[in-house]
Amino acid sequence: MNEYDSSRMADLLAQTHHMVATSEEGEADMLLLNTCSVREKAQEKVFSQLGRWRKLKDKKPGLVIAVGGCVASQEGEMILRRAPYVDIVFGPQTLHRLPKMLDEVRRTRVKALDISFPEIEKFDCLPPPKVDGAKAFVSIMEGCSKYCSFCVVPYTRGTEFSRPFDDVITEVYELAGQGVREVNLLGQNVNGYLGRTHEGGESSFADLLRFVAAVDGIDRVRYTTSHPLHFDDELIEVYRDTPQLVSHLHLPVQAGADRILSLMKRGYTTEYYKDVVKRLRAARPDISLSSDFIIGFPGESDEDFEQTMALIEDINFDQSFSFIYSQRPGTPAADLPDDVPMEVKKARLARLQARINEMASAISASMIGSEQVVLVDGPSRKNPAELTGKTQNHRSVTFTGKQAWKGRFVRVKITDSYVNSLRGEALGLVERLNTEAA
Ligand code: SAM
Repeated sequence: MNEYDSSRMADLLAQTHHMVATSEEGEADMLLLNTCSVREKAQEKVFSQLGRWRKLKDKKPGLVIAVGGCVASQEGEMILRRAPYVDIVFGPQTLHRLPKMLDEVRRTRVKALDISFPEIEKFDCLPPPKVDGAKAFVSIMEGCSKYCSFCVVPYTRGTEFSRPFDDVITEVYELAGQGVREVNLLGQNVNGYLGRTHEGGESSFADLLRFVAAVDGIDRVRYTTSHPLHFDDELIEVYRDTPQLVSHLHLPVQAGADRILSLMKRGYTTEYYKDVVKRLRAARPDISLSSDFIIGFPGESDEDFEQTMALIEDINFDQSFSFIYSQRPGTPAADLPDDVPMEVKKARLARLQARINEMASAISASMIGSEQVVLVDGPSRKNPAELTGKTQNHRSVTFTGKQAWKGRFVRVKITDSYVNSLRGEALGLVERLNTEAA
């Protein structure tokens, strides 16, 4: 989501100030840090980065330093006090005001701070997205109202609100017009989407998916991230009848012990989660599932952790994300005693990651010999004479092919599997994709 926000900032500043992104800090007129506060480690990095930038500002006093994102939202004025050489502090919902703040700062040399939540205004003020390639993110909702006890997002991004249905569809049409073939619908809990329609009604996430998939040129639809709680039959039905929707789902479970799920305020049990997966697999037998796990939540016992390991065996997860619990200020869980020793947390994390890696490797190995439809990203980084692209289950495949295939779908026979990627042989371009699962 931050990647998407950063690209919107670049689009906006290109439009208003003709700015061009540079990877050379020394030649920049403005340095912009988009931050994440979901875990403490990410937050700590902010001040060390700012410390390095201070030296650049000493050399070039006109340089403007701006800090956006969730750390900005959480810390606000404190950033200006701790790092007085910062000029602008803005939150995830005020990034559209960045050009105005930049003008003000340049004109008055007075620092600007705006971390309010003006909600939907943001999308009306951003230029149409520009894309390079065949894949694009589309933000469909902002904020979160789930209030999981460990999570800072509702406080830093504000409460949940959905973009109007027509706005999302229009954006997807525009992207398809620019050659986009795959969209990734973004939000904290995309399946909680409830967007206003022009007829005055409301569209569910399932409806939205069907309409997005029907846009001419869009052959692959992904979404990030969904919440198990809203995984209703209507959404599962879309897996049955919409081939553009990929057979890969990231569905964060967080833990495998009901006691911990309840302390996390996730609103479901492991039985419920398993039932969602069972219904999904009935609709899409080949679907691969990945997840997020938090290890060492306050009070997590050996028995609780064993239940998480048992759930992993039960579901057979693909490549997933796992994190050691990080106490976040202002969240309800921050009041619980963080009583699991760090060595225990680290050992549990290592065991869980090793097992998930084994499972993911087995899934990769099982793909050898199969034919996969790959959306070509472009030349491979390791060997630019070769191409690389992604399968439905988000695996990178390297193969020999024509550079002109960038942005096209190619049928590839998988010949080898490695830790993080696959190798294959191109069988040819796929022209009429929507008649078969992409
Ligand atoms: N909305 C999704 C959900 O909860 O189902 C996920 C979005 S969340 C911003 C991304 C992931 O960060 C979470 O799924 C969780 O695993 C992890 N996370 C959030 N807060 C955390 C914390 N305090 N400590 C460790 N990991 C955390």
